[in-house]
Amino acid sequence: MTRRESLVWLEHFITHKLGNFGPYEDAMIDAEPVLFHSVLSPMLNLGLLSPMECVNAALKAYHEKKAPLASVEGFIRQIIGWREFIHGIYWLKMPGYLDSNALQAERPLPSWIYSGETDLNCLRQCITQARETGYNHHIQRLMVLGNFFILSGCQPRAVVDWYLEMYVDAYDWVMQPNVLGMVLYADGGLFATKPYIAGSGYISRMSNYCDSCRYQPELENRAPGLPFQFPVLELHQPTCRTHQKKSTHGHDAPNLGKKIPSRQENRHRVRAKVPCPALKISAPN
Ligand SMILES: Cc1cc2nc3c(=O)[nH]c(=O)nc-3n(C[C@H](O)[C@H](O)[C@H](O)COP(=O)(O)OP(=O)(O)OC[C@H]3O[C@@H](n4cnc5c(N)ncnc54)[C@H](O)[C@@H]3O)c2cc1C
Ligand code: SF4
Repeated sequence: MTRRESLVWLEHFITHKLGNFGPYEDAMIDAEPVLFHSVLSPMLNLGLLSPMECVNAALKAYHEKKAPLASVEGFIRQIIGWREFIHGIYWLKMPGYLDSNALQAERPLPSWIYSGETDLNCLRQCITQARETGYNHHIQRLMVLGNFFILSGCQPRAVVDWYLEMYVDAYDWVMQPNVLGMVLYADGGLFATKPYIAGSGYISRMSNYCDSCRYQPELENRAPGLPFQFPVLELHQPTCRTHQKKSTHGHDAPNLGKKIPSRQENRHRVRAKVPCPALKISAPN
């Protein structure tokens, strides 16, 4: 990839995709890994494009009425509001930031996390895509893969290493705040108001992954429970309680603002196999 090719790539995104960036930026479709995302991160991180020229290209499209405000604002927010903000967090908090583990998560990664061989279709799709292309878009990284890592209580440094190994745009400065701050809440809430945790309903609404999954939420006779969702209540309960009154983030996903059941109540739910109201899922068998 050269500077010239990077400019052509940027122009292609602005002309053909930016207009649909806003409405579809959270969508996940198994046969369409990129959708209307830009795949500009490798060029930005290598210095082949500057953040400001991407912002200016989007602004120009808006002023020429080639892209709607919602999409232009969404794209600019990703660059300035996330990329540049994350950059600042890294330099503010390194090197000690890498040792963050506020939730005391110590579980090792499962072996299938590299192969993608799991019945959880959302994870299988995202991991397979990452293996084949070196790319997942933001919501796949945060709300599917990240969801699994925080709910499973995986060890933060192992999770950072996994993400670093999977993506072509991976760099310490952008990976660590995203993983330790946004995904794992390992920094105890330095810039995230609460852990990003989604129920199956969110993934079902935003993707077509559930349609071919044995755990499909709408199926009457589906496989019982969602094996990777339930442990959060046991693992992270004290922190969830502390933060349950904080404001929610932009996604229509977690439901931790509701009363979190006590450990005693949870044990009762597991035995009785009734739906868990906190996460709106059934307790696993
Ligand atoms: C756990 C996790 C790990 C991540 N690791 C990386 C990484 O190593 N390198 C990396 O460049 N991005 C990382 N991101 C951010 C984001 O997922 C990617 O920048 C984005 O998916 C790249 O695809 P795109 O260029 O098509 O993005 P688009 O959706 O088209 O967004 C445009 C640009 O906005 C910037 N951006 C958007 N969100 C973020 C964010 N959260 N942090 C920083 N920049 C952002 C990127 O430069 C991106 O190219 C990570 C996000 C998460 C949740
Ligand atoms: S049913 Fe659950 S495990 Fe299966 S794809 Fe949907 S969210 Fe993922």
